[in-house]
Amino acid sequence: MDSATISRILPRILPRVEKPGRYTGGELNQVVKDWNAVPVRIALLFPDIYDIGMSNLGLAVLYEILNARPDALAERAFLPWQDMEAAMRREGIPLFALESRRPLAEFDLVGITLPYESLYTNALLALDLAGIPLRAADRGEDHPLIVGGGHAAFNPEPVAEFFDAFAIGEGEELALDLADVLRRRKEEGAGRGAALEKISRVWGMYVPALYAPEYRSDGTLIRTAPQSGKEDLPNPVVKRIVPRLPPAPVRPIVPYLETVHNRYAIEIMRGCTRGCRFCQAGHVTRPVRERSAADIVASIEAALANTGYEEVALLSLSSSDHSHITDLVQALGVKFGSSRLRISLPSLRIETVSVDLVEALRSSRGGNFTLAPEAATESMRAVLNKPISARQLLETVGEIYRRKWTTVKLYFMIGHPRETADDVRAIAELARAVLAEGRRRLGRRAEVHAGVSTLVPKPHTPFQWLAMDSREQIAAKQDLLRRELRGPGIKLDLTKPEVTLLEARLSRGDRRMGEVIARAWRAGARFDAWSDRFRPVAWDDAFRESGIDPAFYTHRERAADEVFPWDHISVGIRKAYLRRQYEDSLAGRTQGDCRRECFGCGILSTFRELREALPAEERFCPIVDRR
Ligand code: SF4
Repeated sequence: MDSATISRILPRILPRVEKPGRYTGGELNQVVKDWNAVPVRIALLFPDIYDIGMSNLGLAVLYEILNARPDALAERAFLPWQDMEAAMRREGIPLFALESRRPLAEFDLVGITLPYESLYTNALLALDLAGIPLRAADRGEDHPLIVGGGHAAFNPEPVAEFFDAFAIGEGEELALDLADVLRRRKEEGAGRGAALEKISRVWGMYVPALYAPEYRSDGTLIRTAPQSGKEDLPNPVVKRIVPRLPPAPVRPIVPYLETVHNRYAIEIMRGCTRGCRFCQAGHVTRPVRERSAADIVASIEAALANTGYEEVALLSLSSSDHSHITDLVQALGVKFGSSRLRISLPSLRIETVSVDLVEALRSSRGGNFTLAPEAATESMRAVLNKPISARQLLETVGEIYRRKWTTVKLYFMIGHPRETADDVRAIAELARAVLAEGRRRLGRRAEVHAGVSTLVPKPHTPFQWLAMDSREQIAAKQDLLRRELRGPGIKLDLTKPEVTLLEARLSRGDRRMGEVIARAWRAGARFDAWSDRFRPVAWDDAFRESGIDPAFYTHRERAADEVFPWDHISVGIRKAYLRRQYEDSLAGRTQGDCRRECFGCGILSTFRELREALPAEERFCPIVDRR
């Protein structure tokens, strides 16, 4: 079906589906280029519905960067909701891009964003709706190249057989290199295999079909390495980084309908020096790079003029660690202080200076203030490497309530095998102490919301050797919290154990997991991140029918020298460093902020040349000279 036919049918079916604006395109700042005048055509697919995907910053960044190239176009695609999927299947409409309404199958490349593992079955649904074979091996010369990227791609093996290639790491420069390869492929009339060979030599690109895993009889890995005859391919594949953050996008598309976030989002800093041992993002995004206060203010000013947004989010993993955060907040106050602009500054350290910063922005007073102590006892904080004291937390929440925020949201994490019932009970006690502090200041208006997630020992973190809690252990800890943490002024949010276990199995899986994912998808698993559509039975059946024991991936403490399915993918951090951190966690030893002291994680040696090419004031990891 061509784009003209799709455009002809849509007006008939759109009035009968929920939120037709999800499928029309045509929003402010959309870029539509002449298809026939541009040699490189890329579809950027977020494998969830429009309302979720339009809030993804990575998609907005790649859209703007690629469309800035005169020889390339980038269009957006999202999954339809159930009603629209049924209508599309009934009418024979394939998954199409919003800008040109061309089927995805007509593009040179479809880039699929994978920020989390629960989107894997959605990626298969998208390929199926697009009429593109699910397995890379079944695709022919005329099919687009299917490229995955995003944080879940740091262990690409569970979905390796469905993708032609993965972009490992940061996409800003990588996307342009891929566009170059696609353009040359067109000029030279090169085949699919030759194009993938070229792509496999681009820094940060991983072409899984050119690498093969080898297993022992006990199911553990011997290695994943380039196939015979391809020994010159990168091994490990080192993630791509940009030495300095490029200008932020300032012309984001403004949706017609309510999406998850209706605001301008700008990344003020990438990477984190805190070293929380459970945090994959903090490890895979090293080294720290910052945007200057002047650049941030200028980008916000331009973006507001281009969009009309009334809210701005300053994003990073640890906002108060930006080395010029006070200057930034002051500059924002000078520039926007008299306007109605709301500015949010999430991910703050637990200290009163964070409260000062948010108050200076005058953004969310009277609403929620979020803090993430993660654990409630000193011993668990040492295990997680989140060394803040209860006294410090209570002092900070005292300031928050004193300045009239009525609700403190606290994020905790349970599920470490070293955690005892007392550690879990302490979470409830701490949340109650926070509420008591609020009541002292605000009376019955004060509230506490406790969000308690369950630890997933993620790849590329010090916890990658860890056996995680069983379903029964997680359920018991959650029951304890439900009993201990209730009453007026308290709200408790818990993640379903089945959801956490699936995330753990998928994120820690190897290439054999592909069979499980395909089976679960065929049995109806999709939208696994949506609690009302999550079907644990489909997954349990898929594991059983594939003959794969999920506990092998999640409930087994790994030997120190075990080869992981993600070991041939390097995020620039030494495995020996992570192991040292793992042993320190078991011994309850903490590590400080590596802004003050370098702990030799390996980032500097991996990217030494890039760093040395930067001017002194921009070099990442500020204390390198003391090594
Ligand atoms: S190299 Fe040192 S300062 Fe840089 S991220 Fe690693 S531990 Fe931190």
